[in-house]
Formats: sequence, structure tokens, C-alpha cells
Amino acid sequence: MGLNEAVDWRGELGGGTTAALIQAGTFRSDAGALFGPVPRVLWDRLVTDEIDGDHRLLQALNCLLVETSAGRVLMETGIGERVSDKVREMRGYLGKPILPAMAAAGFEPESIDVVAMSHLHFDHAGGLLRADGSKAFPRARIVAQRAEWEIALDDNSRIVASYDQPEIRLVREWGEEGWVDGEVELLPGVSVVRTGGHSKGHQAIVVRGSGPGTQTLAFFGDLGMRPWSANPRWVTSFDDFPLDSVEVKGELFARAAEERWLIVLSHEPKTPVGRLTPDRDRYRFEAV
Ligand SMILES: [Zn+2]
Repeated sequence: MGLNEAVDWRGELGGGTTAALIQAGTFRSDAGALFGPVPRVLWDRLVTDEIDGDHRLLQALNCLLVETSAGRVLMETGIGERVSDKVREMRGYLGKPILPAMAAAGFEPESIDVVAMSHLHFDHAGGLLRADGSKAFPRARIVAQRAEWEIALDDNSRIVASYDQPEIRLVREWGEEGWVDGEVELLPGVSVVRTGGHSKGHQAIVVRGSGPGTQTLAFFGDLGMRPWSANPRWVTSFDDFPLDSVEVKGELFARAAEERWLIVLSHEPKTPVGRLTPDRDRYRFEAV
């Protein structure tokens, strides 16, 4: 059974708003880098099943398709199809990219009104273009923070390593039409909130249903990659502004726990949907 069938998840948020999880393949990232400042003795046992011979973890490329009465929103696009065999091998990239994964789930790319990007790192923005360089979502507005577009093309060598700048340049004009600053409602019930932390213009995406049985769903991007991200102090080495990550995670997670939001984790392969519960001076992610 493929990963898509294994974790297929759909949620009703109320008032006709639904969310579907679509996994656009998997890749591998260095385990130590993902746990950042956390000593190995504290995280070793959490990952014994997935760590490979190169000390890498299995990272899913989780995307969400939200349908509301006002339109369809896709969150994230994964690594996409424009990768060389060398990069594919180096990153351990496997599985279906976003377009075939969406097709398997019954969604046409032409039906997407908005693509909301948590940030523009290669493993989130790579699927904005088809293999031939044309727009993967021809009708969609691409929504990321203005600050994220600005930092993505910075010449600092660390920034150059995190973003696929030649690809970002190809989509910049299209992306510029959808730039936002701060907290913005994209469609009724679907909002983005600038968080910073992981990257300068990183944003969270929050979806609120309506009417009886209403639920709120939040996608915290790479501030909520895996279940252990529920501890605000467990930030990755890839976070460019770690103190901001700790602070904003504390604020967002407190609200998510209090209001019982559904959370979808950005890179969790097995149990990506759950809720946060207060646990001493941190939170615990409980899969649903
Ligand atoms: Zn990521």
C-alpha cells in the first residue's frame, strides 16, 4: 500500500468546509539537524524505527487541500518534479509529487483558487511548477508573506543553501501578485498569520469551519513538523530565528490547545493529524 492510501485523511470542519491530507512523497533529512539543540539522548528512542544508515529521518511532504463554499485552497506543494537524479538521490526523495498525488485523490490542478505557502524552502515551493516549467496551478493565487519572497533571494550563503533560488526566480512574478503582509483572510474562514522563526517570512495557515460541529484546523508549517515539535523549545537547526520560533510556538500552541484545534504536521509520515494538550511547561501532540 502506498503512503497516500495509508494515511488518507479527510476532516469536516463545519459549514461545508472540508480538509484532505495529500502526501507529495517523502525525503530524508539529517536527524541531528532536525532536533537542533536537543541532546541525542533525549530524542534517540523517538526515531529508532525510521533512522537510516546515514542518520537521516523519513520526512513526509504533507500538503492539505481545503474546500470551502468560496473556493479551494492548497497548502504547500512539496519538492515537485523539477529535480535532477543527483538531487533526488541525495535527498532520498521518493513517492508521487503533488500533481499525481492530487490526481490520485481526485483533484484537478485547474480547480485550485489559492496556493498558501508556509514558506519558500525547496521542500515546500518545489511543486509550484510542472516538470516543463509551466505553472502547476494555472488559476491559483500564490500566497506567501512579502518578507519571505524578499529573504528567499537574499545573497547570504546560508539563505542560498535553504532556498532553490533559480526556481524561486522563475515563480517570483507569479508569486508577487499574491504577496501578503501579516495576518490576512484569504477566503472566508481561511487566514494566514505571519510567524517568522523557521524563516523570516514563515506563516501559519488557520481554517475555521462554521455552524454546528465547527472545528478549527491549523497548519503551522515547519514550526510543527513532527509530534515532538509540540515542545516550543525543540526547534530545528534549520530555523533561522530560533528565539522567535520558541516564542511564537508558545503563543500559537497555547491557543491551539485551549480551543482544541486540529493540527496537521508538515513532515510527519505516520500520524500527521492531531491535537495539542498542555503538558508541564510544554505541549503534547496527540494523534486523532
Ligand atoms: Zn520543510
